[in-house]
Amino acid sequence: MQPEAYRKLLERLSEIADLHRTAALLLWDRLTCMPPGGAAARGEQLATVRRLAHSRLTSPEFGELLEALREYESSLPPDGDEASMVRVARRHHDKATRIPAELVAERARAAAAGHEAWLKAREANRFEVFRPALERTVRLSREIASALGYTLSPLDPLIDLAEPGVDTAFCRSLFDELRKALVPLARAIAAKSPGDEDAILRQPFDPDLQLAMGKEAVAAIGFDFQRRGRVDLSVHPFTTSFSPDDTRITTRIDPHDFTNCFYSLLHEAGHGLYEQGLPRQFDRTVLCASASAGVHESQSRLWENFVGRSLAFWRFFLPRAARYFPEQLGAWTPEDLYRAVNRVTPSFIRTEADEVTYNLHVMLRFDLEQEVLEDRLAVADLKEAWNHKMQEYLGVVPPDDLRGILQDIHWSGSFGGDFQGYTLGNVMAAQLYEAAGAECPDLGAAFTRGHFQDLGEWMRQRVHAQGARFEPLELIRRATGRPLDAAAYLRYLREKFGQLYGV
Ligand code: ZN
Repeated sequence: MQPEAYRKLLERLSEIADLHRTAALLLWDRLTCMPPGGAAARGEQLATVRRLAHSRLTSPEFGELLEALREYESSLPPDGDEASMVRVARRHHDKATRIPAELVAERARAAAAGHEAWLKAREANRFEVFRPALERTVRLSREIASALGYTLSPLDPLIDLAEPGVDTAFCRSLFDELRKALVPLARAIAAKSPGDEDAILRQPFDPDLQLAMGKEAVAAIGFDFQRRGRVDLSVHPFTTSFSPDDTRITTRIDPHDFTNCFYSLLHEAGHGLYEQGLPRQFDRTVLCASASAGVHESQSRLWENFVGRSLAFWRFFLPRAARYFPEQLGAWTPEDLYRAVNRVTPSFIRTEADEVTYNLHVMLRFDLEQEVLEDRLAVADLKEAWNHKMQEYLGVVPPDDLRGILQDIHWSGSFGGDFQGYTLGNVMAAQLYEAAGAECPDLGAAFTRGHFQDLGEWMRQRVHAQGARFEPLELIRRATGRPLDAAAYLRYLREKFGQLYGV
């Protein structure tokens, strides 16, 4: 029988989950429809709600409940529901108690101010406008790292927040292995590329029709935006969720290239499917959550790239796309679209980068975060270091700050511990996709018929329904039968782009 303390723990966890979801809703509103004048008040509201969540999680009473449950926990199988619940709750409690409440509130205020500073800097196209806000963010990241504690790098505890059990050294060795393969692969492709593979994408595409077409695609892969979700517009696409029955995704629209909206939607719908597939029997607890940011990203990249940029997908979807855009797309074959959406070229913007060069953008950010946090690089010199690394990894230098250091929202709210998840996600996606393919034969043939349920169901059982029970590397090992490494991802990239470009 469950002890009284366990029942009380669940009650506390539900309150904390509600507060976190309230903060998420305030954030969603800020990024989709809030007037700019609301920024300061919203910053305070977010700070208040987060402070409440933090104080509940760190309260002595919560600590006593966990203490009272130690014996119960050790009497149970470690992977069972109750033991996992107590273990994950304890992990949250231990981390949160190390970070003072005032620091949590200060970070929320800094994130709101940082977001506004980033928007202003983008308007002026000048990094200097953003620099003071970024310096504040970096200072707060260092304080959080010190509060959490570390022995080797201040980046370690920040990575661990997003990716429990993963550290800088693990990422460093995985990334070095990838970079050694990707830089020459990108160069070999560049030498063979005619440079106009994606010409068919550069036509006028009506924004409303783009959105309608994108919604048809995300519905086809299984995202429920009628009853259990929504699609909206924002500057930077994102996904958020207030329960498995209310998951919001956003996209943006480029009227001269339908792939911006289309692939943003597939990407975010991948995140959304994960949220909609979380174990609802644990709703409003720490187990009804993703395993990590990297695992989350594996699901978005899976649907965006492994599925959405496959030839099989375009055999299914091109006739549908041509119904929205008969003039623009009616004369093309699935092979034409496949080549166009897989053009490899060194570019400035990470979120628009192809699959081969994308990870080099991520490594650039990861390297810079490590250097700044370890005090080997000043924020004042960050732009120059950014441009230097772009030259080294991608062979191009951004012509202005909008296409360089100001390109995305990330460093406006936090610094350190976010970027590794993007490349870990790709590597995980490849290993998961390979394992799913070994168990579900002819996935490609199914995609051609518009049948995505086998892959969706496999991910639901092996990944989504597991919630936060296992740490990410353990989840991947259980789902795929082996430890995470770069092999499946490199196989996938070499085979796909080797065929496309004859390299
Ligand atoms: Zn994502």
